[in-house]
Amino acid sequence: MPSVSPNKPYRVGRSRTGLGLFATKPIKKGTKIIRYFGPILDSKKKEEDEIENKYLFELNNRWTIDGSVRENIARYINHACRPNAESDVKPRKRKVFIRAIRNIEPGDEINYDYGTDYFKAYLKPIGCKCDACEKKRKKKRAEARAERVRLKEKAERKAQKQAEKLAMEKAKAKEKAKKKAAKAATKANGKLNGKHLNGHSLPKVLGKKAPAAKRGSARALHA
Ligand SMILES: [Zn+2]
Repeated sequence: MPSVSPNKPYRVGRSRTGLGLFATKPIKKGTKIIRYFGPILDSKKKEEDEIENKYLFELNNRWTIDGSVRENIARYINHACRPNAESDVKPRKRKVFIRAIRNIEPGDEINYDYGTDYFKAYLKPIGCKCDACEKKRKKKRAEARAERVRLKEKAERKAQKQAEKLAMEKAKAKEKAKKKAAKAATKANGKLNGKHLNGHSLPKVLGKKAPAAKRGSARALHA
């Protein structure tokens, strides 16, 4: 790990994505923290324009700082979507400083926003690992988990309701069958009783019918 003079308010340390720059002393909002430096590349020179690495810092259409040199400790600063520092670009001087935009406490990782182009090219494909994005991801995961629990509970409630409904229907059907049986029994009893009561008490098995004359007279009465 590259060592930094103890006079400086930062050190290189382990971060979520590898190495990062961390405050070792309080850094006041607005303070220049470190210069981002390296050879200046001229886009008009073909061999310089062809240089490609992750540490290129475009000053303007023509000039780019190649920050990949070891001495450029600022290259350890990681990107953050909600950073505590910013890059302060002086195109005419061809200089870039990283400046605190919030009070930074010892132990805090120093971050600045690398800008949309870098984000699209390098961070979006692998997923930004900055605190803000991690927090967002964590929140989304928690929400997804809660939603899964909610759906599971809903399904369980539905199953419970259905089971209750089924049980109720079964009970109703049973009750109905019971009533029907009871009704049938009463009817059967009534027939038997009727035979007894109306005097034609001879069991049917004998094949005897009610006297024809009586039925005939009944019909005659109606006519
Ligand atoms: Zn991010």
